[in-house]
Amino acid sequence: GKTAEGRITMRRFVTADEKPETIQEALQRPSQRSTEKIMAIVNPIIKEVRAGGDKALLSYTHKFEKATSLTSPVLKAPFPESMMQLPQETIDAIDLSFENIRKFHAAQREEKTLEVETMPGVVCTRFSRPIERVGLYVPGGTAVLPSTALMLGVPAMVAGCQKIVLASPPRADGRLTPEIVYVAHKVGAESIVLAGGAQAVAAMAYGTENVTKVDKILGPGNQFVTAAKMIVSNDTTANVSIDMPAGPSEVLVIADKTANPAFVASDLLSQAEHGVDSQVICITIDLSEQQLQAIEDELHDQAMALPRVDMVRGAISHSITLVTSSLEEAMELSNAYAPEHLILQIAHPLAARDMVQNAGSVFCGDWTPESVGDYSAGVNHSLPTYGYAKQYSGVNLGSYVKHITSAHLTEQGLRNVGGAVMQLAKVEELEAHRRAVSIRLKWLDGRAEGK
Ligand code: NAD
Repeated sequence: GKTAEGRITMRRFVTADEKPETIQEALQRPSQRSTEKIMAIVNPIIKEVRAGGDKALLSYTHKFEKATSLTSPVLKAPFPESMMQLPQETIDAIDLSFENIRKFHAAQREEKTLEVETMPGVVCTRFSRPIERVGLYVPGGTAVLPSTALMLGVPAMVAGCQKIVLASPPRADGRLTPEIVYVAHKVGAESIVLAGGAQAVAAMAYGTENVTKVDKILGPGNQFVTAAKMIVSNDTTANVSIDMPAGPSEVLVIADKTANPAFVASDLLSQAEHGVDSQVICITIDLSEQQLQAIEDELHDQAMALPRVDMVRGAISHSITLVTSSLEEAMELSNAYAPEHLILQIAHPLAARDMVQNAGSVFCGDWTPESVGDYSAGVNHSLPTYGYAKQYSGVNLGSYVKHITSAHLTEQGLRNVGGAVMQLAKVEELEAHRRAVSIRLKWLDGRAEGK
């Protein structure tokens, strides 16, 4: 909240002094704009793009991105060198991050086919195949987000997706930031859709004259993007799936006496600068009043020196500190909140990690700021927000593959399992199912009798 002096500070609750309901209330995410209103805006855009193809897509880009000079909504590979001119230090940083993300996601491959003989002669197998065509949404007309392109594109490349399509809203001059074109080139994207919002999502879901229709759409975005992903994934004629529901970004930091107040504050702020709707939570364990003050002073001082201090003010206004007295209590509160990012600035972070039930990604110890995971460590930064860490994983290699199972029975296998099948088919009154087994068993018996 903003006090009279404009001090940037989080509301503080001592959990032992409050009712559990008060703490739960304080941990509510900031509410989202009504989805109905967003849907009413997004639905007609999807319909128009579906019907009007490239021309409709382009007209939305002219309208929203003001990129009126743009004449084609798609850039096909190979992308011209002139579109990816970058300073060497940026190339080096992208290359290093690319390699770490590649290594971590390559290690997630399942090389072996899973095979189990459930009973003699009954063999069940599971193997994976890449999703053939994926559409990766990289948000932001003004923001430069090569990291999001890396986090979505590298696992798609590692998984072996045949067609990788990137979509991102161009700048008003009709061009994309060269960082994104460079990443698209590195991951082997076949094309870049120069469009944003619901229109980009619709173009990839249904395809247009020049936009390749995809099988799955992944990536973050604002509420128009999120609503469009929900709509197309519910339309069976689109036959497209999405990664996960999305909300504003968030972080939860757990700090004990060993934590450096300056580090704690810097991590809270690195999330708060994302946007006014971001939320940051600090859970302290057994800190003295002086130590609590030290974190609050650092938060204010560091925030005031940030270029995005206005964003920070907004985010901090619905962010809180919870003062607890044990690691168990802190972890319980964290698991109930299910943060997108969890930072453990405590004496034994790896032991505490074993207590994590719900979180998108965990950052362990003093030397692991969330920023390293956002860009370069190798872990993915496309993560479940808004409490969805309770049931969703962040983007990983598995997001780009599907599993296929197969069964293979011998004659003896069918004899072994057939009775159960016929009995259950009988219970379900599916006679044709029952007969598919009985006809074979009869045939086997007949052969045995030499008929
Ligand atoms: P965006 O690319 O998500 O959306 C831009 C598009 O929004 C425009 O192309 C336009 O089509 C659409 N739009 C804007 N106003 C509209 C209106 N009134 N009606 C219909 N459509 C409209 O870019 P953004 O808006 O800058 O949002 C970026 C989002 O991505 C933020 O919510 C941010 O939190 C999120 N983000 C997430 C990550 C991550 O990896 N987790 C990284 C960066 C940003």
